[in-house]
Amino acid sequence: MSNENELLRVSNLEVIYTSRHETVHAVNGISFSLNKGETLGLVGETGAGKTTTAYAIMRVLPDRTAKVLNGTIEFEGQNLLQLPISTMQHGIRGEKISLIFQDPMSALNPIMKVGDQIGEALKYHNKENLTPEQIDERVDKTLELVGIQRERKYDFPHQLSGGMKQRVMIAIALVCEPDLIIADEPTTALDVTIQAQVLAMIDELREKLGTAMILITHDLGIVAQMCDNVAIMYAGEIIEIGSVEDIYSGEMQHPYTTGLFGSLPDLETKTERLRPIDGLMPDPTDLPVGCKFSPRCPRCMDICRTLPPEFHTCGTHKVACHLYDDREGGNKNA
Ligand code: SF4
Repeated sequence: MSNENELLRVSNLEVIYTSRHETVHAVNGISFSLNKGETLGLVGETGAGKTTTAYAIMRVLPDRTAKVLNGTIEFEGQNLLQLPISTMQHGIRGEKISLIFQDPMSALNPIMKVGDQIGEALKYHNKENLTPEQIDERVDKTLELVGIQRERKYDFPHQLSGGMKQRVMIAIALVCEPDLIIADEPTTALDVTIQAQVLAMIDELREKLGTAMILITHDLGIVAQMCDNVAIMYAGEIIEIGSVEDIYSGEMQHPYTTGLFGSLPDLETKTERLRPIDGLMPDPTDLPVGCKFSPRCPRCMDICRTLPPEFHTCGTHKVACHLYDDREGGNKNA
């Protein structure tokens, strides 16, 4: 590990899905790292490879169709991809790394009381050898921590509102006090006012417990509020990565990131229409040869259609785009 604060280092990760007739290139050689207590926003459109990255870290990719072709995922110095699945189940998942799913309705068990679902995670890992009474007490405390009265532990998921169900998911993720939470679009299924409350609560709890987080989202506004660093993903690649200040400063910005900002409403200027990015994400079974964004890029040059851009670095800020080939200190491709 390059620094003692480093918690997670993903290097050159490549994941494909295969069927009888085609191969989907979902994640294509991504690298990033995360320090203890830090928050990284993983941003991109649907199909960019964000959730596949999360599932690869948790080792919950579907066995029959997904394959990690290359790369390492080092967590506290050990490569998760080489651990026996029993160690993932008992020593890592839930205990050290937790996942908050997008949709609480499909992630919660509809025929189990929510208190039992929170307690189940504790019973399964139970690294502190808690007695049933202590587990019950911890469930009550965790429910209160996420803003739900302890009496509601006897409710089934359908008796709770959408926001409360997501709070229960967060309680399940936090109850074993993991070192890393991966939150996969945790508020997408909620309405806007509840979204803000749930996000504020995740942030507060994360800070209180000192937990690191990977926040998967397509919303740059949420990232600005909650993250230290940002990785922008496109067609299975990280095309720009840096601190929130780097990404939002607009200096050495990737045209795709510029497009993402351009499609956001601005409260200070009166705009008739938002400017969406033209075109669609490329077919992951048949990706463009050069820059994956070239078919949609308003600044595309000839070189972009044939040669994939390498990263150009300015401090901790990295951008993969041929526009910066001549920049001093950049990796020149041409
Ligand atoms: Fe656009 Fe070329 Fe940069 Fe790709 S490499 S984002 S096509 S300018």
